[in-house]
Amino acid sequence: TITIGVLALQGGVVEHLNLLRRATAQVSPAIEFALTEVRTPDQLARCDALIIPGGESTTMAIVARRLGLLDPLREFVKVQRKPVWGTCAGLVMLAEQASAVKQGGQELVGGLDVRVLRNRFGTQLQSFVAPLELGFLSEEEKEEKGKPAAPFRAVFIRAPVVEEIMAEEEGAGGGKPPVEVLGVYRKGDAEAEGKGDIVAVRQGNVFGTSFHPELTGDVRIHVWWLRQVVDSARHGKSIVQGA
Ligand code: GLN
Repeated sequence: TITIGVLALQGGVVEHLNLLRRATAQVSPAIEFALTEVRTPDQLARCDALIIPGGESTTMAIVARRLGLLDPLREFVKVQRKPVWGTCAGLVMLAEQASAVKQGGQELVGGLDVRVLRNRFGTQLQSFVAPLELGFLSEEEKEEKGKPAAPFRAVFIRAPVVEEIMAEEEGAGGGKPPVEVLGVYRKGDAEAEGKGDIVAVRQGNVFGTSFHPELTGDVRIHVWWLRQVVDSARHGKSIVQGA
């Protein structure tokens, strides 16, 4: 059994669980998944992979600190290197640095060598939905169906973007994987070609999206991510023997 946790301190927990339930059914009949809400270090320790949902990252960090979860989360992501996916506020949590944070700063889990800019597109009222071309979905669908994937309806709500990818420390020898840009949002045709906002990134087992796939009925990204979790569980040390 592969156990997928959703950090359930605040935010879009139920939405992720609902979509995960549908997505797990599509991955492979041979693989058994368990889904669980995570509110304690013990619950986290039982997970093979974790989703940090959208919501409000400052609040989430404060609650995580209070429940003694912040250091276990850092350990989960950076030491155990188990697969983690952060959506929106979850992406903020997974960044090593964030700008436009509240006065006094905010604690982060880290794991992605990026700096995010919070609330890039303004307030709640300026939320929007935009079609997004996601190459990683296309590759998979082209193989399966012989045609490229339809754009993903990306929901942006007070969304952060990745404003900077930190340079790899030269000769650090840490063997850290590079940060891959997996999604760029370009607004209409007003903006110059090539410009745009980075809204999906991956660094090794750490994945982040600015938008909210859990608020759509589209399971494609959840299915894609679960397949990576399965791969990682097979090859990584988090494999559950005999399950
Ligand atoms: N603006 C929020 C934050 O910075 C994220 C919003 C969201 O998750 N929808 O934490």
